[in-house]
Amino acid sequence: MKIADINQLKISTLLPSPKGVALALLEACRREDVTVNEITKLVQTDPALSGRLIQRANSANQTTRAITSITEAVSRVGLLSVKQLAMGFSLIDQYQKGSCKEFDYQGFWSHSLLMAIVTQELGKSTRVSAPDELFACGLMARIGCLALAVIYPDRYSELIAQQTLDTPLIRLEQQYLKTDHNELTAAMLINFGVPKIFVESIYYHETPDESGFSEGSRPFQLVHLFYLGKQIADFGLAEESERNQRISELMLLGGKIGLDAESFGTLIDQVMQEWQSWGRMLKISAVELLPPFHKIMNAAAPRQENDADAAPLRILAVEDDPSGLILIKGLLANTRGHTLFTASNGQQALSLAVEISPHIVITDWMMPVMSGLELTKSLRATEWGQNLYIIMLTGVEDEEEVIKAFDAGVDDYVTKPINSRAFRARLRAAWHYRKLQESWERDREQLKRFAAELAITNRKLEHFALTDVLTELPNRRAGMEALADVWSVANRSGQLMAIMLIDIDHFKNINDTYGHAIGDKVLKEVAVSMKDAARKGDTFCRMGGEEFLIVCHNGNTDAKSVVLFAERIRQHVSKQQIHIDEAHINISVSIGIALKEAHMKSGEHLVNAADKALYAAKNAGRNRVFLALGDRFISCSSDKPLSHLD
Ligand code: GH3
Ligand code: MG
Ligand code: MG
Ligand code: MG
Repeated sequence: MKIADINQLKISTLLPSPKGVALALLEACRREDVTVNEITKLVQTDPALSGRLIQRANSANQTTRAITSITEAVSRVGLLSVKQLAMGFSLIDQYQKGSCKEFDYQGFWSHSLLMAIVTQELGKSTRVSAPDELFACGLMARIGCLALAVIYPDRYSELIAQQTLDTPLIRLEQQYLKTDHNELTAAMLINFGVPKIFVESIYYHETPDESGFSEGSRPFQLVHLFYLGKQIADFGLAEESERNQRISELMLLGGKIGLDAESFGTLIDQVMQEWQSWGRMLKISAVELLPPFHKIMNAAAPRQENDADAAPLRILAVEDDPSGLILIKGLLANTRGHTLFTASNGQQALSLAVEISPHIVITDWMMPVMSGLELTKSLRATEWGQNLYIIMLTGVEDEEEVIKAFDAGVDDYVTKPINSRAFRARLRAAWHYRKLQESWERDREQLKRFAAELAITNRKLEHFALTDVLTELPNRRAGMEALADVWSVANRSGQLMAIMLIDIDHFKNINDTYGHAIGDKVLKEVAVSMKDAARKGDTFCRMGGEEFLIVCHNGNTDAKSVVLFAERIRQHVSKQQIHIDEAHINISVSIGIALKEAHMKSGEHLVNAADKALYAAKNAGRNRVFLALGDRFISCSSDKPLSHLD
């Protein structure tokens, strides 16, 4: 798997959420008595929000264990942060140019949810991992598809239309976008802080045979679990006729993870039922106004876009008094190019707003159920509600009242009874604002997309720039960066830190005896074998030639532990015989260790000290470990006791 470790892929904040979920969240977050559980349940239906939540939890995580479950993430970041995060959802504006036309958003969300439920259930019966972790992983397993739709709306739309049985979408992605949804998913999951074992299993979930995981191992079980999860989710969304054809194939797959036909059948029934009830849950968790499940998961495919200039304004008028509504309709009738939507109270308006994404909201103040002031506040609490133009209708022009309205977030107000000229003037202002907004948004969208594209390109470039081609280890540059990072952490925290330089002994002889090509192979083998013996978490890189650097920053960095560690590597290499073609080659390495000492000014000092210790090891006859301590170099080979280091 060739996935770079990245931090700058920020597209997760651009990924859209289902409108129904957004609406239910909006309703829930407004209530003071809302519980963590309610919000969790809602966030849990949406891959984009879940990903961001897990990312937030992991970035604030003090422990070494990564957080992968949504419930745990919620309890870590706290209700307030979850609320804030939940309000930051991004919606697809179905009228807006640029969304990915051929991408089935509704299908994507349904599929993700089903896959989450399935993998969770499979997890319960196979016990390969904690069910709630599997839920989150299942939910996000295909988030790269959504990301592609966001980053390359037009191009990806073309590719979706272009795919055939012989040329599946993923090939087209690789060919034209130089990445694919699995690669992108993996990169995002790494960014969220999801543990590598899940990331790798998800990366291969469409082609488990290519993973190379050894049969029966945990990654093997996981990759098949996600594979099966996807198959069942595909099955759940398939047409009835296709479904019947697929079922026997599915049964076979169940066997692969140790489920017999009967328990498998029960499982399928159960997950499908649960899938349905998630939909029901969403419906009853909010007011009756919430649309049914198919609509909840819905943001209809974007409409064919017409000329941007001619794009009509969508105006939402909110007024409990029917005659007032008629009046507004009348006033708008003379102005062309508007689409008018109406609602008779704030609550109705709120759910309608989520659905139609209005440009302008004209709202009465005093209304039953939810007032215009509350409506304004609720709209302004969301990210997408920031750009609405809100005009408040007020009874009397009372300065205090007007200030209250502006504080709540209205842009303008009109006093009742409505003067038609004043009203039109207000509307013109709103229209100008909207035009400005649109051109600004277009620029911003372009910028965002450009930034995301750049992030992908950079991620690839960075991977190559920081990786040594022959050994696939981090290269000198990556090593020096890690060194600088660890140095500054150690400086701040006063923690111990150590490095070691490793140089292969008499490597020139290998080249001279077997030729450079075999020399390369030996070099690579030694690198891999040392990497295997090295501690996970330390940075192990090729400095150049046959010289390697280890920056120790994981756990034990005291002299004794580092010496033992170096000895282990030295012995590991010297015991091993390398077989290349007919040749059996014995290799040894010399190692110089340096510990961060008070007088040292930078990481460079540390490298110098290690280099001198290495030189001492070479001088003393090679195949040994030397430690620099002050001005002295101490031989640390295993035949010598290590007690003097205590
Ligand atoms: P010692 O370190 O024990 O003093 O002996 P050495 O023979 O290893 O000496 P030195 O470090 O001076 O030389 C390193 C040699 O490694 C020289 C060069 O031919 C060889 N070398 C460096 N990089 C590569 C490489 O990428 N591939 C191959 N095949 N050889 C390399
Ligand atoms: Mg009223
Ligand atoms: Mg050498
Ligand atoms: Mg050398």
